Amino acid sequence: MIDLRSDTVTRPSKAMLEAMFSAKVGDDVFQDDPTVNTLEEKAAAMLGKEAAIFCPSGTMTNQIAVNLHTRPGDEVICHRNSHVYYYEGGAMMRISGVSVCLLDGERGQIDASGIAAHINPDDVHRPATALVEVENTMNKGGGSVYAYSNLAAIAKVCKANNLRFHLDGARLFNALAETGESALQYSALFDTVSICLSKGLGAPVGSLLLGDKTLVRRARRVRKVMGGGMRQAGYLAAAGIFALENNISRLKEDHTRARYLASVLEKMPYIEQVLPVETNILIFKLGQQFTETEFLSRLKEKDIHALSLGPQSIRFVTHLDFTDSMLMKVEEALYSLKP
Ligand SMILES: *Cc1c(COP(=O)(O)O)cnc(C)c1O
Repeated sequence: MIDLRSDTVTRPSKAMLEAMFSAKVGDDVFQDDPTVNTLEEKAAAMLGKEAAIFCPSGTMTNQIAVNLHTRPGDEVICHRNSHVYYYEGGAMMRISGVSVCLLDGERGQIDASGIAAHINPDDVHRPATALVEVENTMNKGGGSVYAYSNLAAIAKVCKANNLRFHLDGARLFNALAETGESALQYSALFDTVSICLSKGLGAPVGSLLLGDKTLVRRARRVRKVMGGGMRQAGYLAAAGIFALENNISRLKEDHTRARYLASVLEKMPYIEQVLPVETNILIFKLGQQFTETEFLSRLKEKDIHALSLGPQSIRFVTHLDFTDSMLMKVEEALYSLKP
């Protein structure tokens, strides 16, 4: 089976499994798990933050961040299509009782002037703006990458207005692989950063929330409340350490394969538009020859799996387990599709 639905579908490699089997573990709720502690320290050092906390999912790390940075009734500024709003089941409204100010912007990105224009005045009628959230790379924006200068400008607006700034960096390392910027320089702009180990990095489970020591200590309580305190989590953390050490430098391969697929799709008569590919996410629009359901089922007959993002819209995501020989098979399948 060729699975282009998401970069979350990867299975741990033999070497990763060996690292997991040989992990030293303890009870992480007591902070006694040496492998979890090592993972948290390692990630904090890589991103230049004081501390990190290991969580079961990126939804949890994002929602802990929202909870840390807001009080009920406060307002969060983010893009209309951001994962934290669009794909987390309404969690920030439900768990943290916040209001949202949803901005539009090309390829899922928001900018400093748009944010500045939507900070509420100190007026009892209005919710108090407390937090700005951005996503890099931007999933629903087709894996788009923020220019560093835009993020720096947003950070400046946040500082000037006493707002906190959170990065959903589920695919931060994909962004950095393209720009060549350092994780240290990047994360310095944010109060908290969330990264996922279970996406392009190929670990089976896990995300990290990074910030200063005080925030991460508070995050431990919020994680417990959310039911995310895990016990011998070192077996999972070992996969995360392996992912950080071995799977970052190869991310560009996924981007190259996504670009190649885009170049193939461009030539197909049944494709109306291929959105620009910046990282490992490829979104395209079908012409009238196929509906998205027909297209997906025709690919499925060839054991190729993808996702629809809405009417006529299809997403392919490349990843660690998508090889060159699979790429050739997908190319062949795309050429052979006849409406
Ligand atoms: C996958 C993802 C998350 C977290 O998702 P989980 O499935 O909860 O780990 C957060 N943000 C973005 C942009 C993502 O793609």
